[in-house]
Amino acid sequence: MSNYIVLVKQVPDVSQITDNAFDLETGTLVRTRLASVINELDAQALAFANKMRLDSGGKNGKIISLSMGPPMAEEVLRYSLSRCADMVILLTDRALGGADTWATANPLAYAIRKIVREILKNDNDYYVITGMQSVDGDTAQVPAQIAEELNLPCIAYVTDAQFKNSHFEFTRIISGGSQVVAAKKLPAVITVAKYEYPLFATFWRTRWANKTQVIRWASADIDATHIGVAGSKTSVIRVFPPGKSTRKCQQISDAESLAKLLVESFKCGNGQITEGGQAQTPHYVLPDKRASLFNRSFEGTKKEREDYEILTDKLNELGITEISQIDDAAKGKVLGTCGERFHKKALEDMIDGFKLTKPAFQGEVWVVAEHSGGAVHPATFELIGKARELADSLETKVGVAVAGYDLQHMAKELIAAGADNIYTIEDKLLEVFDPTAHRKAIADAISTYWPQIVLYAATPQGRMLAPMVSYRVSCGLTADCTGLDIRDNSRNSFIGILLQTRPALGGNVMATIRTKNSKSQMATARPGVMKRLPPDPSRKGRLIRHKVQLSQDDVSLEIIKTEIGGGGVNFNANVIVSGGKGMQSRDNYERLVSMLCDALSKKLDTQVERGASRAAVEQGFIERAHQVGQTGTSIGSKLYVALGISGAIQHMIGVANTETIIAINSDPNAPIFKQCDYYIVATVEDIVPELVKALE
Ligand SMILES: Cc1cc2nc3c(=O)[nH]c(=O)nc-3n(C[C@H](O)[C@H](O)[C@H](O)COP(=O)(O)OP(=O)(O)OC[C@H]3O[C@@H](n4cnc5c(N)ncnc54)[C@H](O)[C@@H]3O)c2cc1C
Repeated sequence: MSNYIVLVKQVPDVSQITDNAFDLETGTLVRTRLASVINELDAQALAFANKMRLDSGGKNGKIISLSMGPPMAEEVLRYSLSRCADMVILLTDRALGGADTWATANPLAYAIRKIVREILKNDNDYYVITGMQSVDGDTAQVPAQIAEELNLPCIAYVTDAQFKNSHFEFTRIISGGSQVVAAKKLPAVITVAKYEYPLFATFWRTRWANKTQVIRWASADIDATHIGVAGSKTSVIRVFPPGKSTRKCQQISDAESLAKLLVESFKCGNGQITEGGQAQTPHYVLPDKRASLFNRSFEGTKKEREDYEILTDKLNELGITEISQIDDAAKGKVLGTCGERFHKKALEDMIDGFKLTKPAFQGEVWVVAEHSGGAVHPATFELIGKARELADSLETKVGVAVAGYDLQHMAKELIAAGADNIYTIEDKLLEVFDPTAHRKAIADAISTYWPQIVLYAATPQGRMLAPMVSYRVSCGLTADCTGLDIRDNSRNSFIGILLQTRPALGGNVMATIRTKNSKSQMATARPGVMKRLPPDPSRKGRLIRHKVQLSQDDVSLEIIKTEIGGGGVNFNANVIVSGGKGMQSRDNYERLVSMLCDALSKKLDTQVERGASRAAVEQGFIERAHQVGQTGTSIGSKLYVALGISGAIQHMIGVANTETIIAINSDPNAPIFKQCDYYIVATVEDIVPELVKALE
C-alpha cells in the first residue's frame, strides 16, 4: 500500500495573457493582472496519483498534496482536497520567497522528510508525484533536484503507469522514442508529462474540502539548508519582452495563393535565420585584450554599459588615461556632472571595476555529451560550437565529458566539432542512460577538474541529468537557454561571467540569469538554437580517461522496454510535409500527406519527406522515425508544411532552422500561426486536395 506525496503549485494563468498584462514601460508581466490557477501538469499529476492508488488496489494509501507559496496558494490545496487528496500542507513563509530552483527543491525536500517522519511514520513505501514542470518557471529542474536531495530514483516525463507483479512500470518520453521503466527501489520521484484524464470535484467533496484544515508549515518547521534569495545559486539580472518573431505570420485566404507562395518560397528562400531568432551580439573580449582598460562595452546590462560610457567620456574630457590618475579631485569633477546618473559609492565600485581583468571563474568550458546506440546526439555538436565561441573569448579550452561504455570512437568526431579535451568515463554500468549512475559519473568528473562553464542539451535526458549533477556539486543551473554570452558585471567584481538567457512564463517574457555562490556556471541549452561548426578533421585534441567507482547500487532504474524510431527517413530532403493529430486518422494521414508530397515533389522537382508530430506518432498515424521535434529529429529543410499541428514548443524546437514554415490548421487561435510564415485557417480535408490541384 503505497502513499503519494503530490507537489502542486499555484501559477499565473498564462493561457489568458492579454496586452494589458504587460507593464508598457518595462515590458514585463504584471502578475497581479492574471488569475492564479493550479499548474496544469500538477493537476494531471494529482489525477495520476489517484490512478496509481486505484490501479494498485491500495485504497488505504494516502494522497498528501504539498505546496510551497504565498498564503493564497491554499486555493490549489483546496482544489486537491476537492479531487482526491486526503491531507494538504502549505509551506509558506516570506523567507522562502524569491527562490530559484535550488532553493525551491531544498525546502520542499525537507518538507517531504517531515511528512515521511511525522505523517507516514517513516514508512518508505511512497511516491513523490509532480508535474514535469510549471508554466511560470518552465525549468523541469525542481523534481530532479528534490530526488537528488533525498537520494531517490527519479523517473521523468512519464505518460503512463501499469501495475504489474506488485509494482509499477512507467512509460516515459525519451529522446527519439519512449521507454518503459520501473524504479529499482522505493521511494521514487515521478514527473508527469501528460495524463489526459482529469479529475472533477463532486458536490460533497467540494464541501468537505472547504471545511478541511490546511496544515501550514513555516521555514522554521522544516530546517531546510538553502532557502529564499540567499539560498539561491542563480539570480535574474534582467527581464524583457521576447523579440518579435522573425517569421512573417501572414494569413493566406485561398489554396491558389498558398500554392504560389509555396513555389516562390522554395525558389527564393526566406532570408537569414539568426541564432534563437535574435540579433547576434558581438563576441566578448577580455578586458586586458581591449584597446583600453576603460573600455567596458561588454557589461551585462544596458544601464551599466551606459554608466561606464558616461564615466569614460568624462575621464577623457579630464585627460585621464591611467586608473592611478583618478584622484579625489577627479572623482569630485565626475560626480559634479554625473552625480544624477550614479552616486559616490557606485562611482567607487565602477573605478574598482576598471582594475579587474581576470575572469571570475576559472577552468575550461565543458559540454556534457549525450549519445545513444554509439551515435552522438546532434545537440551535443551544437553545444560544442557554442562552447568553442565562449572558450575562445575566455582564452581557455573546450572539454567534453562523456559517460558510457565503449566511447573511444566518439573522440575524433567530438574533436573535429571543436573540442580540445575529451573526458571519458567508461563503465559497463553506464552503457545505457541511468539518471543516478550517470549523474555520479559526470558530477565526479566535474568536481575533479572544475570547469568554469558546463553546458548540457535541453533534451529530456539533459534536463534530467543537469539538475541532479548541479545539485550534487552545489552549483546553480539555468534551464533551456536560447542565448549564452560572456559579459562583465565589473561594478560587482564579476568579469567574464556567463549570461544565460531563456524564455519564461510560456515564452511571454525573456529572462537573463547569472550564476552565484557556485564554483561552476551551468546551463541547459535548447536544441536547434546554437550552431554546429563545420567539422574540421585536422583538429587535434586529447583523450583523458576519468575513473569513477560504480556499483549496482548506483543504478536506479530497471529498463523494461525501449522504443526508438529506426532510420530510413530522409530528413535532409528540401521539403518536409508533416501531419499532426489534426489529421484525425491513419488513413487521412496516408492519403493527404502522400498526395501533397507527390504534388510538391513534381512541381518543385525535389525530394520531399514525410514528418509527424509526436501526437500523430502516438496515435499510430506513422512510425516514430518520422517524428519531428525535441525528442524526434530537428530538421533544417527549405520548406516545412505542418498539417493539423498545434505548434507545441517541443515540436517547434525541431523546425527552428527551416527556412519557410507553412501551417494549415482549423483553429484560428492555433499557436503555430504565431511561429510560421504563411498559414490558412481550414481543415486539412478541405484544403489539401485544393492545394494539390492548384500546384498541378
Ligand atoms: C518531454 C516532451 C518531449 C516532446 N517531444 C516532442 C517532439 O519531439 N515532437 C512533437 O511533435 N511533440 C513533442 N512533444 C509533445 C508536444 O508537447 C505536443 O503534445 C505535440 O507536439 C502535439 O502534437 P499535435 O500538434 O499533432 O497535436 P495537438 O496539440 O493535439 O494539435 C492538433 C491540432 O490539429 C488541429 N486540427 C484538428 N482537426 C483538424 C483538421 N481537421 N484540420 C486541420 N487542423 C486540425 C487542432 O486545431 C490542433 O491545433 C513532447 C512533449 C514532451 C512533454
